Amino acid sequence: MSARNLSERGVAPDLPTADAAATADELYPEEALARALALAGEVTERPRLESTRERTITRRGVMWLGQTCNLRCYFCYFIDRIETTTHPEHPFMTLEKAKKICKTLVDTFGNDAIDIQGGEPTIWPHILDLVRYCREIGLFPTLITNALVLDKPEKCQAYKDAGIGDFLVSVHGIGEVHDRVVQLPGAHVRQMKALRNLREAGIPFRFNCVLSKPVVAQLPQVAELAVRTGARVLNFLTFNPFEDQARGGKRSANNVPMYGEISTQLEKALDILDDAGVEANVRYLPLCMVKERHRKSIYNFQQLPYDHHEWDYASWGWTGLVEQRMKWGEVSPVLQLETLRTPARFRKQIDWILARPRLRSALFKLHNGVARVAAALRSKDTLYRHNARIRAESHCGYIYAAACNECSAKNICDGFHGDYADLFGTSEATPFGGPKLKDPRHYIRTQDKIVDGASA
Ligand code: SF4
Repeated sequence: MSARNLSERGVAPDLPTADAAATADELYPEEALARALALAGEVTERPRLESTRERTITRRGVMWLGQTCNLRCYFCYFIDRIETTTHPEHPFMTLEKAKKICKTLVDTFGNDAIDIQGGEPTIWPHILDLVRYCREIGLFPTLITNALVLDKPEKCQAYKDAGIGDFLVSVHGIGEVHDRVVQLPGAHVRQMKALRNLREAGIPFRFNCVLSKPVVAQLPQVAELAVRTGARVLNFLTFNPFEDQARGGKRSANNVPMYGEISTQLEKALDILDDAGVEANVRYLPLCMVKERHRKSIYNFQQLPYDHHEWDYASWGWTGLVEQRMKWGEVSPVLQLETLRTPARFRKQIDWILARPRLRSALFKLHNGVARVAAALRSKDTLYRHNARIRAESHCGYIYAAACNECSAKNICDGFHGDYADLFGTSEATPFGGPKLKDPRHYIRTQDKIVDGASA
């Protein structure tokens, strides 16, 4: 972010950057946790929640309202679009368009829950109307939020009255670590007040925590924070080069931790969560980076379709298109999951057609027809697994180390993200023996996942 933009938003010019030397809250994470709990308050007793080990394909959709935000997290997938006010995806869309997208998720894709993202959805003026609308049409609404706005109790009450399902709060560290990675002094204090408000209003919340370099020292304390404030779930997400992060050399060994650096701290965090019965999920980490007892929490592309807190590949393939992410223009024709099965050798020609709106519409119709027939001939699990492989191999350039050939999990593990492999190589691969595993649910089917309004 430019110095000008930082100062316009009131960001202190001396706020340490993500790759600065460790500061007090990293060196003394227990003290940072104590201060956070004093602000957020604690549950006296965690309620027993219904859970399940059944693993079926998720019906949760996702939508992006526009890339406008009140923070600047350095690892944000949309950071360029958020910084660039002239970018077509920057401004928020209209309520009418957002409703149309939600209705399509229900009518065409059969979704029963939705993650609503902005940028930051709580600063979109129509958000309460959209939450109400989602409830009306049978979508369990979750907002993915930094929770700054929720530091006022009356805001939380308004969401409760509108029918919010739950909030997925982005807790990217404790104290100064969080402020540093989101680039706003005071953000952590406001977020802790928001957690207190949510709990007092009786609104469920879960945590998302991106595994950035500065938070690694605090992972056990982030887990404690989740347990003691009453978060229902804690998701850890490796810092991946999706979207804008893939551009302009933003990632380096200074701000991306190596998997091996993460794993010791992550395992401590997972043990804390396990002991307290809090659901933990880790996205996009090779299975060999944690001990066997923790592999039930690892969700790579092949496991994601079975997580009811994650997104349906079919509807995500459609809402992820630029037409559904921007204010201007109509929504695009629906794209079926099978459409993404295009063989790699035709990819260039297909991309050429997709860049031309009139040809694109005709191609969608043709391809969707073929897709329907093909889908009828395959099981849903096969279809989603194939799409998982396309996302990992073609979209993200995932690769395996030579050592992976010896590993019993190779068939159900995506290996190493291509960009990560460029930064650090693949020498961390630690193959484990045993019979070759075939079912991507092999480990995750032993995990107890909470049943909420979306998966009931
Ligand atoms: S396939 Fe490779 S990356 Fe995956 S768990 Fe096995 S050794 Fe690790």
